[in-house]
Amino acid sequence: MMKAATLTDDHTVKIDDTERPVPAPHELLIEINACGVCTTDLHMYTGSLTVDYPMVPGHESAGEVAAVGDDVDAFQVGDRVAINPSIPCNECRACKSGRENLCHDLTSIGGAAKNIIDGAFAEYATVPIGNVERIGDLDYRTASFAEPLGCVINGIDQVDLTSGETVVVIGGGFIGQLLVQTLRTSGAGTIVLSEPVAARRKVGLKAGADHAVDPGDKDPTAVIPDLVGDVDVAIEAVGFPETITQAHALTGPGGRTLVFGVPPEDATVELSPFDLFFEEREVVGSYSLTPNTFSRAVTLLDNGRIDVDTLVTDEFGLEDLETAFDQMEAQKGLKKMVYPNR
Ligand SMILES: [Zn+2]
Ligand SMILES: [Zn+2]
Repeated sequence: MMKAATLTDDHTVKIDDTERPVPAPHELLIEINACGVCTTDLHMYTGSLTVDYPMVPGHESAGEVAAVGDDVDAFQVGDRVAINPSIPCNECRACKSGRENLCHDLTSIGGAAKNIIDGAFAEYATVPIGNVERIGDLDYRTASFAEPLGCVINGIDQVDLTSGETVVVIGGGFIGQLLVQTLRTSGAGTIVLSEPVAARRKVGLKAGADHAVDPGDKDPTAVIPDLVGDVDVAIEAVGFPETITQAHALTGPGGRTLVFGVPPEDATVELSPFDLFFEEREVVGSYSLTPNTFSRAVTLLDNGRIDVDTLVTDEFGLEDLETAFDQMEAQKGLKKMVYPNR
């Protein structure tokens, strides 16, 4: 048996004893030692993202191999791994072009996808061998950042960042902060963070932003060009139509705007096609991660390129997952961690 945090209805988490899963021939049973709480988990909990209850969320995890399937030779009990929750079909056109995040038949271990299977807010989870990366002696909390960092790397890939370019990040929540750190290690020249909460601006400056502006104080589209001139890349990490418009307005000729925050499905924005034509400005999106960006994320974490300590603000056992959700709804803190086997 094992303990799992099951969403049985909106705003209802049940900590149940359930059957410990048995790995299929090509799978591993992982003892989950750390799992970050993501805004997606919160949306599943509040019902703003439609999922079929009951389900076990949690998709940012790392742990230790506790059992291996009959056909597994490459891993042994005791191996330490980070888990990539996205299981692509590997057969569709998107998968075959290396864009597994755009798979037509994507399955996620506890995350948002066409097919969802039980996630990592549990003492154990089963995972196909293609979905883990070895982490050496990296601590589990740091290793659990591989999933969100893999998404951030996928985003930065979309805008073809060149060394020395000027980048604006709109939104200093957890993802905005992780973007700032990753941009810094990816060679951005000047980084500006736009964020209304003073404490988050402070974290951003500590994490590597060169400037932090308050959009509630003055219009960022007026202030930021005065500070840094033309903006090459503007990344929207909030998910509001207004801030997407703002990001695009900030970019200069040749500029790229990245839609990284999750916008409402029915939202629209107005933009000038003449600007796209005459100034070769682009607006691109970024969704989830690929096996490639997940692997690169583990490498960055392994080499200490990301400072996890400044981003983790709260840590819980499995039984307190609901408290983590409540704090997130109140916009308190940054990353919440859950340790199912603590
Ligand atoms: Zn996530
Ligand atoms: Zn596919």
